[in-house]
Amino acid sequence: MQRISHWVNNKVVAGTSGNVGKVYNPATGEVQAEVDLASVAEVDAVVANAKEAFVTWRASNLSRRAEIMFRMRELIDANRKELANIVSLEHGKVPSDAMGEIARGLENIEFACGIPAMLKGGYSEQASGGVDVYSIRQPLGVVAGITPFNFPAMVPMWMFANAIMCGNTFILKPSEKDPSAAMFVADLLRQAGLPDGVFSVLHGDKVSVDRLLEHKDVQSISFVGSTPIAKYVYETGTKNGKRVQALGGAKNHMLVLPDADLDMAADAAVSAAYGSAGERCMAISVVLAVDSIADALVDKLKSRIPNIKVGPGTDPVAEMGPLISREHRDKVASFVTNANAEGAKVVVDGTDKAKDAGFFLNPSLIDNVKPGMKCYDEEIFGPVLTVMRVKSYQEGLDTINNNQFGNGTAIFTRDGGVARQFQFDVQVGMVGINVPIPVPVSYYSFGGWKASLFGDQHMYGPEGINFFTRGKVVTSRWPDPRTSSVNLGFPQNR
Ligand code: NAD
Repeated sequence: MQRISHWVNNKVVAGTSGNVGKVYNPATGEVQAEVDLASVAEVDAVVANAKEAFVTWRASNLSRRAEIMFRMRELIDANRKELANIVSLEHGKVPSDAMGEIARGLENIEFACGIPAMLKGGYSEQASGGVDVYSIRQPLGVVAGITPFNFPAMVPMWMFANAIMCGNTFILKPSEKDPSAAMFVADLLRQAGLPDGVFSVLHGDKVSVDRLLEHKDVQSISFVGSTPIAKYVYETGTKNGKRVQALGGAKNHMLVLPDADLDMAADAAVSAAYGSAGERCMAISVVLAVDSIADALVDKLKSRIPNIKVGPGTDPVAEMGPLISREHRDKVASFVTNANAEGAKVVVDGTDKAKDAGFFLNPSLIDNVKPGMKCYDEEIFGPVLTVMRVKSYQEGLDTINNNQFGNGTAIFTRDGGVARQFQFDVQVGMVGINVPIPVPVSYYSFGGWKASLFGDQHMYGPEGINFFTRGKVVTSRWPDPRTSSVNLGFPQNR
């Protein structure tokens, strides 16, 4: 059985805890590897190593850091296919989808190549007589990233690229369900010339997360995962004096107005709902259909579903793979199975596939959902699209704003004025106008509102640079001895 171990000082390091997790092939349901799960002592050793590496890494030249990131960019580009296959084998998403994940992750590497420009400070000459004032941004120290199963390559790239380029040393605790992508990326960083100890991979479960959250030498935590764990990570990390950004779950609504191009809207909803088997935090989960076009839109959604090719990543024509685990597959299926009893209408039932050995489901479509139903109130995170019928734009907007989550949303319309009003009023962090999955480009930042994000700083982009640095302001004078005197008053500038 293949064993996946930790990554420290640019090499694989065997675990010593004796605890392992199982890594499945979701397409067959078979265990394909075991992953070491770190003990408290192993976490402590990795943090101590990263702390030591920080001393020299923070003093490295910006141009040297950028050079490494440029090399990393080339290495990822050259190894896209291999990385995509690794992701596909453990996560289940089809390789073409995994290629998309890597392309979006690569954008974050490219952004981080520009770090010398991003770390420029401000300078005010002659703020007072002979006094100059300037601001600089410095790294935090040892920082940690805890990532979810659904983007095992991209989400780590959201974090480590900016973190290490800002001069921090970074410890990645990837999802124990698909840990191999992190190891592949770690080896690329080694090949790019990253010094020992700057980037470590520590596999683990709650034991290692809890230790990172309480360790006095870990300065910040970047987390992406489900809302209950994001809240827990935020509360525990901040209680222990750490800076924390914790991104949680989602329930993304797509509001379709009567003037929208319904075929375009249906294509967009089907792509955004069932891509990656719905295991995307930006997946469209609810279509809000204004009454007058609701029947027509549901028909269009329904007619597209039989064309979706479900199969393993090894099948070149498959467009949608299995879910991550048997338990998750069964939980997703239960939302569909219970929907009729809750008063909704199952238009397409994809749960027949739930009998397969692999963790597959076919796409499902549920109409007439309402708040109070489980399939509306909870994050499903699977290939289930729900439709809620609303009387008007205003009812659609209110529905979105009353939802506990605020990650992504989209409006489909031909009316620029209404779209602009929607952008102004909607209480969601990432908004698409005729764009169903509005993941911001890397020079903006990613993050939701409400129960989709705990903390103040969004992930990557300019907010990522802020998150991984702290400001310092220097007031300097190179004194002229002739002006020296004793003055007990508070320094004034005029
Ligand atoms: P998860 O919360 O189960 O796990 C995320 C990480 O937390 C993993 O590394 C895991 O090992 C760790 N973890 C799990 N349980 C823990 C516990 N009790 N204590 C401490 N650590 C624990 O999430 P997941 O199932 O891997 O990922 C899917 C979830 O992530 C979905 O809810 C999805 O919406 C969310 N997600 C959000 C975003 C976003 O940007 N907002 C992006 C991707 C995924």
